[in-house]
Amino acid sequence: MSGLLGEVVKKYPNRPALYYEEKCWNFREVRQEVDAWVNFLQQKIGAKQTRVALFSRNSEKLYFIILALWELDKELVFLNRHLSKEEILYQIETADVHFLLAEMDECSKLKEFPVEIIPIALPNSTEQNHSELHKKGDFSPNHTASIMFTSGTTGRPKGVVQRFCHHLSNAKATIMSMKVTPFDCWACCVPLFHVSGLSILMRQLLSGCSIRLYAKFAPETISQDLQQGNVTLISLVNVMLQELLRIYPSVGYASNFRTVLLGGSPASLELLTECQEKNIAVIQSYGMSETCSQIVALSFQDAKEKIGSSGKPLPGVQLQIRVGNREAKAFEVGEIVVKSSSIIEEYLLNNQNNACKSHMEDGWFQTGDIGYLDTEGFLYVKARLSELIISGGENIYPAEVENCVMSYPDIEEAAVIGEKDSKWGAVPVVYYRAKKQIETEKLVHFISDKLASFKVPKKYYQIEKMPRTASGKIAKRLLKKER
Ligand code: ATP
Ligand code: MG
Repeated sequence: MSGLLGEVVKKYPNRPALYYEEKCWNFREVRQEVDAWVNFLQQKIGAKQTRVALFSRNSEKLYFIILALWELDKELVFLNRHLSKEEILYQIETADVHFLLAEMDECSKLKEFPVEIIPIALPNSTEQNHSELHKKGDFSPNHTASIMFTSGTTGRPKGVVQRFCHHLSNAKATIMSMKVTPFDCWACCVPLFHVSGLSILMRQLLSGCSIRLYAKFAPETISQDLQQGNVTLISLVNVMLQELLRIYPSVGYASNFRTVLLGGSPASLELLTECQEKNIAVIQSYGMSETCSQIVALSFQDAKEKIGSSGKPLPGVQLQIRVGNREAKAFEVGEIVVKSSSIIEEYLLNNQNNACKSHMEDGWFQTGDIGYLDTEGFLYVKARLSELIISGGENIYPAEVENCVMSYPDIEEAAVIGEKDSKWGAVPVVYYRAKKQIETEKLVHFISDKLASFKVPKKYYQIEKMPRTASGKIAKRLLKKER
């Protein structure tokens, strides 16, 4: 038995590996399930095709299939289930895939795509032809493990080529900093087709922890699992944490529950403060698809003093703030650049791997985000460079205005974007969702008391629903459609 799966099975054959709905599989049983899929997929796909696309919500089958395809040395192209047909087509063509594994009920929808669709269903074992045992994938460091498309928050999603070495370097750093052990159980309610989900699987392969997988984010079920001691760690994005807090049980969560790993976008101070009040340990983290998940994290111990910070670089990660060609001083805002063995080298473009344009000559990766470091080296992410609003020469960071708007009673979410303005170049406008109708005049008054006048939004749109990407982020570029 070679490779990462083989290793973890050898070490912990009888420990629980996967919980899904009412079932549990130990590592030995996972191995058996994976072998059945290996056998099936080997016959269906053969040895020639290296890339295989996946189109599925989280399920035990998807989990087994991912491992099986890696055993077969395939490169996995993860498609986001919530994309439009045109976007899916773009991703299929960009990745140049010929096989697509999809859930049974999605297959008819995907018929028109120029790929062979393989329904995710294993034939009865009696019908399976057992073919020659394949050579087990060795998960070699330079082999492409996954091609994932970025969330598409700022534009067309970019195909990110993630090799095993990138994933494993990231998983090692996370395991070390979060002290993950085989006795942990990581709740995965974020999609496996996104790096936040897939990285949990990588951490399991290295640490032997269990995974409790959810088909989708189901707050009641998850809240119950947290109360009953069924999970010790959970990865969440802001909107999920908000929902869990809404139904937070008076008895609290079980004492073996350790931490929420929160990431994906800036967390509002209100949310973090509420977690502190409820004694829910939150590790705020910063990372991106290109870094194979978190690279900076704020430990619970530091959270009280450094609220709002994303924390410090994980082991093996170097981080600088750059202003032009020089390194910024403490508290000076500039672009966040990072160096780490978990950072990808290529984006996929027009069927070809292309060197990552964001890499600077000296090997630093330009994140496209801006922020600053305090004197103790804690990172504060301020905005995306592309979302920074420059109004009459003054910088406006949307998150600062959003935090202020969200501190107004009954407002639940807010998103601030810049709109072109002939006098100022750009002005901030705000979209918000609230429990009841808000009187704009009162809101303007409230904000004007707290923020400099150039930061006060010039237009106010109360909307019913925030447009989101499949990974739960507010898709600011779609806000105008909600007016
Ligand atoms: P695209 O690159 O297609 O526009 P995306 O950048 O949202 O989409 P991801 O790779 O999923 O795609 O997200 C990474 C980005 O999310 C980061 O570059 C950053 O802008 C934002 N982000 C992640 N964590 C944090 C955080 N803790 N605070 C602020 N922003 C964060
Ligand atoms: Mg990005």
